[in-house]
Amino acid sequence: MNQSHYNKNLFTFISSSPTPYHAVTGIEDFLHLNGFIQLRENEQWQLKKGFSYFVSREKSATVAFSLGSNEEPEHGFRMLAAHTDSPCLQIKPQPDIKTLSYQQLGVEVYGGGLLGTWFDRDLSLAGRVVCEMADGNLIALPVDFNRPLLIIPSIAIHFNREANTNNNIDRQKHLPPIIAQSIDKQLPDFKSILFDQLKLEHPKNAIEEILAFDLFCYDFQKPGYMGINNEFIVSARLDNLLSCHAGMTALAHADRTMNCLLLCANHEENGSTSATGADGSFIDSVLERIIPALETRRIALSNSFLISMDNAHATHPNYLDKMDPAHQIHLNKGPAIKLNANQRYATNSLSAAVYKHICKEANVTPQEFVMRSDLPCGSTIGPITAARLGVRTIDVGSPSLAMHSIRELTGSCDPFLLYRTIVHFLNSDTHKRLSK
Ligand SMILES: [Zn+2]
Repeated sequence: MNQSHYNKNLFTFISSSPTPYHAVTGIEDFLHLNGFIQLRENEQWQLKKGFSYFVSREKSATVAFSLGSNEEPEHGFRMLAAHTDSPCLQIKPQPDIKTLSYQQLGVEVYGGGLLGTWFDRDLSLAGRVVCEMADGNLIALPVDFNRPLLIIPSIAIHFNREANTNNNIDRQKHLPPIIAQSIDKQLPDFKSILFDQLKLEHPKNAIEEILAFDLFCYDFQKPGYMGINNEFIVSARLDNLLSCHAGMTALAHADRTMNCLLLCANHEENGSTSATGADGSFIDSVLERIIPALETRRIALSNSFLISMDNAHATHPNYLDKMDPAHQIHLNKGPAIKLNANQRYATNSLSAAVYKHICKEANVTPQEFVMRSDLPCGSTIGPITAARLGVRTIDVGSPSLAMHSIRELTGSCDPFLLYRTIVHFLNSDTHKRLSK
């Protein structure tokens, strides 16, 4: 696999993953194709050495693992973690807003997005809808309008002379996107628009009634290259589908003689505490079923190593003073190891040394990120999984600019550089070189 082939697959994965549900479906399909066996939480598991499996919870989080043909469970797992969600706007349960001749949708802000970037973009709508069927069953159906459908127009500068110096966004008043307009016709309410879309996407399902939904606005523009030499990638949801894609590709391409595991968790952008988040029971529950004996499981976790992948901040050329001068992060140079004295990142000298050694063997040069001492630091799922499992953990990520914008930016080499380090990790014993 070369870099351009890898990036092409990444673009396809991001385009087909407007929501965590679609991302998990994409991961499941990819794992199926690569010989992984699907498990269900409500069934008995019969696991065998030399085989690969995956299990999903509510179609928004997945754990995939290979039981290495040359290893026992107590030898531990090479673990990867990433998250499936991204900041966005979620449709409210009773969304219809009629203003003048416009039809608008009420939205809640999901996560901590850069809200200014959501204005004047071609937005579409996707998610899942739970329906009552003609036979009385309740079914969750995926939906994706997959066309420009919604827009949040800016107020013209003539009505807001401070727009470039003090642009306050009132989340309740200013964010509802427009979906339709008519001077003389009665516009259909949102549920009937949704019903028509469901019939279009699922013509064989006899839908009686829409009961509930989780629907999200997303940027319709596709991922692409940018720059005179195509040195950049621009796309929505690079944080953190870039890392989910790296994880699933590495797991599928690992030689499977050793124990490996990937967690793709939901709800990182709002704190990870949920049934499908990294601070929920999902990962513990899967590990308990892989290794039922507590003593053996504790030994396995002690012999494991976790690489938590979430995008890192590259140094912004127009905001040099925002970064620590001794820790400038470049695009296209290598994955960033993320450190924080207050454990906002799980990295310590032990895990950093192991990852640096992995990078050396993979012929990749890592970088080291710390926040300026006078700015608060973000966080990710690394410290959460490290605390829950007690596994030695490192936080790393592909450098990126415009994090949490509707359109983020990374270097064209960055996704593949990260991938090269983690696939080497899955195929090696490097993490075991450090004595306990
Ligand atoms: Zn993230």
